Amino acid sequence: MGDLVLHLDGISKSFGGLSALSNVNLHVEEGTTHAIIGPNGAGKSTLLNVCIGRLKPDSGRVMFDGQELTGKQPHEIAQIGVARVFQTPEIFQEMSLLENVMLPAFAHRDGSFRFNANKLLSKQGEIRDEAEHILEDVGLKDQMMMEGGSLSRGDKRRLELGMCLILHPRLLLLDEPTAGMARHDTNQTIDLLKKIKSRGMTKVIIEHDMHVVFSLADKVSVLARGQIIADGNPDEVREDPKVKEAYLGGTQ
Ligand code: ADP
Ligand code: MG
Repeated sequence: MGDLVLHLDGISKSFGGLSALSNVNLHVEEGTTHAIIGPNGAGKSTLLNVCIGRLKPDSGRVMFDGQELTGKQPHEIAQIGVARVFQTPEIFQEMSLLENVMLPAFAHRDGSFRFNANKLLSKQGEIRDEAEHILEDVGLKDQMMMEGGSLSRGDKRRLELGMCLILHPRLLLLDEPTAGMARHDTNQTIDLLKKIKSRGMTKVIIEHDMHVVFSLADKVSVLARGQIIADGNPDEVREDPKVKEAYLGGTQ
């Protein structure tokens, strides 16, 4: 196991009177897959949004590989090498799957989607080849000329994962990557995430499908009512009575 690379220290966030996160501390080892599980409304997506700069915490700090992420804009965080797949896929509905995967590669190093004619001309072939490889990896190569909007929800999620992979992130955050998928699609996604695992990137995965968590995670943290109530190896966490009460035997 590697060094700790992602640190969340004392993160709190309220929405009006509602405390969504309360003094959350979380540390993730480099190259591992760290799952965050917990009942609906526990604060999982809020925590992810704090990591990527979509939400500012009321207090606390997020550090990745020695750099502070708190207070940075989402595109600055992306440039540091942090990518995310949201709970609701965010893709370009009217572009082909190939264009969807290619586009982030043009935007990335500029920090914006500004048109870069130089790069377009010099790198287009290379980026297209890589995009095709990625579409093959995520199981969408046969449909690569179809419009993004025509895909099922599960396929959109795989497309969004492809849009992340072309950025070669060092940290990938996934918010319920298998939500809404049938078992077959879920298993395909698990295989895909295992394949990515061998590339050494660090992953934080929010998930409430226990099959996915126990197939993929090296470490598990359990969030309930905005607080981390347990942390450890999947087997330890599964047997923790607090977890059984709050999550496994709870409302899910
Ligand atoms: P989870 O992803 O674990 O289901 P969320 O992080 O989405 O939980 O939500 C945690 C709590 O914060 C919930 O009670 C939710 O209703 C509330 N919440 C999340 N986002 C907002 C927001 N933008 N405005 C107000 N309340 C929010
Ligand atoms: Mg959520």
